[in-house]
Amino acid sequence: MAGDTSLYGRIAQVRTGHAYSGEFRPRFSFDEPHTCPCDNSTIESREHVLAHCPRFERWRQPLRDVSRGIALSEILGKVDGIAALEAFLRASGAFARPIDTPTRAPLAEPTTAPDEHLDNG
Ligand SMILES: [Zn+2]
Repeated sequence: MAGDTSLYGRIAQVRTGHAYSGEFRPRFSFDEPHTCPCDNSTIESREHVLAHCPRFERWRQPLRDVSRGIALSEILGKVDGIAALEAFLRASGAFARPIDTPTRAPLAEPTTAPDEHLDNG
């Protein structure tokens, strides 16, 4: 079960509404679109990703088992819901920051010691 630290971080972020999703992305970068890639027009909100986005449909069953309509109040407010959310996030990778997206790192520094940058959390 090593390497799951970020998963729990994501769960906490989703619960508190600070997940790395489109509705908050402008705080991180003004260059990225904050619409969902599924149609490039829907805002990639928490609710959209958890309940509506076709990109994540295949992983949604655990959420439906808890809340048929995937009501965020139920998913985020119940013990079963959090477990289902964990399963969903683990399987889907939803709200994980894209690996190829720079996270405000300085551009100028040539990286001669890549090992130092493995986890900047
Ligand atoms: Zn979508």
